[in-house]
Amino acid sequence: MRTIIEPFRIKMTEPIRQLSRSDRENALKKAHYNVFLLDAEDCCIDLLTDSGTGAMSTEQWAAMMVSDESYAGSKSWKKFKAAVQEITNMRHVFPTHQGRAAESILAETRLKKGDVVPNNSHFDTTRANVEYVGARAVDLLGEDGFDLARETPFKGNMDIEKLERCIAENGAEKIPFCMMTVTNNTGGGQPVSMANIREVKNVLSNHGIPLVIDACRYAENAYFIHEREAGYKEKPLLEIAREMFSNADAATMSCKKDGLANIGGFFVCNDDQWANDFQNLLILREGFPTYGGLAGRDLEVIAIGLFEALDYDYQVYRHATVEYLGRKLQRLGIPFVRPVGGHAVFLDSKAFLPHVPPLHYPGIGLVNALYLEGGVRSVELGSVMFGRKDQDEKEIPAPLELVRLAFPRRVYTQSHFDYLIEVIEEVWRNRKDIRGYRITYQPQFLRHFTCHFEPV
Ligand SMILES: *Cc1c(COP(=O)(O)O)cnc(C)c1O
Repeated sequence: MRTIIEPFRIKMTEPIRQLSRSDRENALKKAHYNVFLLDAEDCCIDLLTDSGTGAMSTEQWAAMMVSDESYAGSKSWKKFKAAVQEITNMRHVFPTHQGRAAESILAETRLKKGDVVPNNSHFDTTRANVEYVGARAVDLLGEDGFDLARETPFKGNMDIEKLERCIAENGAEKIPFCMMTVTNNTGGGQPVSMANIREVKNVLSNHGIPLVIDACRYAENAYFIHEREAGYKEKPLLEIAREMFSNADAATMSCKKDGLANIGGFFVCNDDQWANDFQNLLILREGFPTYGGLAGRDLEVIAIGLFEALDYDYQVYRHATVEYLGRKLQRLGIPFVRPVGGHAVFLDSKAFLPHVPPLHYPGIGLVNALYLEGGVRSVELGSVMFGRKDQDEKEIPAPLELVRLAFPRRVYTQSHFDYLIEVIEEVWRNRKDIRGYRITYQPQFLRHFTCHFEPV
């Protein structure tokens, strides 16, 4: 087979800087050893997130110029609505400024104190919005999802037995809706099978509980179904996506992922009452229902991006790069979560740095080593992000210590990946010299964004 190439050429470039090692040391020290506090221009390869960091196509840039910025009923809105409906086939469409705005209005209009929302795995903003209105966010990930090494095709699936138990224990009247996150971001970007979506829908239908899809990576999930699930090899990704949404009653979306846009989101639903309640709060919080917090040009960009994400060649190329990295890591014996996810590779920092105890934050040790070695910015998903305290204020480490390398869409080429692999390999070779960190300052909430560290 020939090399899979990037299915685009580049006609606009953005320079990236390579600092010297000593400049990187100074930059990291100035950032209190927290990569969130670095200047982006001091990062050579920025893998902090795949959210809103993608590159737009010529079609998208061109569409911005013909956008209609009318307050109400603009042409751009009509294009946006038509695109979203073609994919989701839902009756009501509401733009929002990003995914969490859709989540917060959904939570505020449909949930009350004491309610329960099951999900395969809640994303952090989804969980926060559910909990903010006093409801309980329950994760019902299947058993495979907990095994870092097991190579099964749909590790993002929901556990059907756990779902049935959850409904039996809480009662359907306490569950205003159930969610499915595709792909499962928190669970390592792992996909959900069509069979699982269908089974979940069946169980919910028996109890009259609506299904809401958290659709941020719907196109990547459709690609995984195409590649891995029997019966979908001949179907275009658009058709697979439509089938996914046909099982749902509503969906929330962050267009910063598979919308291939730098900002935007939406909410869709079929129920008129849901739509009515959503619209009332949307006007209060986001804007008039035909722009919902977005400029006409954002609506144009998303209307195109949603379809570009469903382009098969694009998905083949995207997954080829992620898998390329996975294969190289495997050959080098470097520990990571298998199989690789749709938008990211997760390094296992506990296995990478077994000599660093959890409360010296091996994830931060690895993140900082990658930056110092090659200017690569990644993010810790471990005891700093998820650690908790017991009654005596003693810190409890998180069960997993991971480092996520998330890949912006259409931004980096294969040589960037080769460079990344060289950096990881060098860090792996010198891993015995990597030490942990201690926290010198932390805020009360979401400490990982702004806390300060010093080397142990
Ligand atoms: C990014 C994301 C969100 C939130 O979207 P924002 O646009 O960042 O507000 C919700 N769910 C999942 C699975 C996500 O990845």
